[in-house]
Amino acid sequence: MSILSFVLLTTGCENDTQQYSLKEIDDRAKQQVSDENNHSELLLDEQSTRSTEQVKEEIATTEKPTTEAPTTEKPTTEEPSSESSRDGQVEYKDGIPYVGGHIIVNKDYKLPADYNPGLSHEAKKQFDKMQQNALSEGYQLIIVSEFRSYTYQQNLYQNYIQQHGKQAADRFSAPPGHSEHQTGLAIDVATPESAQNSMTSFGQTKASDWVKVNAHRYGFIVRYPKGKEHITGYMYEPWHLRYLNIDDATKIYKSKLTMEEYYNLK
Ligand SMILES: [Zn+2]
Repeated sequence: MSILSFVLLTTGCENDTQQYSLKEIDDRAKQQVSDENNHSELLLDEQSTRSTEQVKEEIATTEKPTTEAPTTEKPTTEEPSSESSRDGQVEYKDGIPYVGGHIIVNKDYKLPADYNPGLSHEAKKQFDKMQQNALSEGYQLIIVSEFRSYTYQQNLYQNYIQQHGKQAADRFSAPPGHSEHQTGLAIDVATPESAQNSMTSFGQTKASDWVKVNAHRYGFIVRYPKGKEHITGYMYEPWHLRYLNIDDATKIYKSKLTMEEYYNLK
């Protein structure tokens, strides 16, 4: 393991301030390593090991002030860090891909097979609020699909391929690991009537129009909008909602962009 990756593993790399100081640390570490190499003939293995330990200790010491720094500079760092979170950088935490602080799952990014969170409590709570308010305006929404495990998706996808062929199946279904339903943050909605017919018939309902313009107020986005199949890889799915949070869902809704475009992945 290189010294840099040691530092990254122990600290993470959350903002520009830290990245800069990590670079400094890395430069210092490299300098020390190259100093060691210059004297390598004079060093025994044992001494060389101890010397690496010393470098690590130094890193740990120099690290402390840099983690405190962002807290004191909070008002000034807030703006750039929210901008930098849209820089198209996908970061992995425990094998799970994130962009802009949100799990990103699409044709390019997938979840590990053992990621099994169930439906997010926050997403469910927000959905319940939306459902209640929709009902008070005369629109009845029901959940037809929410969390789906890797194994469930595997079977579903295979069945769709058998029924429709792979090319067609890929427009509305995802291979295991690539389904947003595995995040526990996606909910498919319908009206009781459209649920009896087909998922696509939801798009012709007034309830669907309501969802389109109100979902962001509860933290959801219509993840696969009309006319964006070339970006998302999926046909228009007015029923598939993805929970982010109210703030980001509102920003994305107002931008008229897909999640991929908003976070500069495409
Ligand atoms: Zn869905």
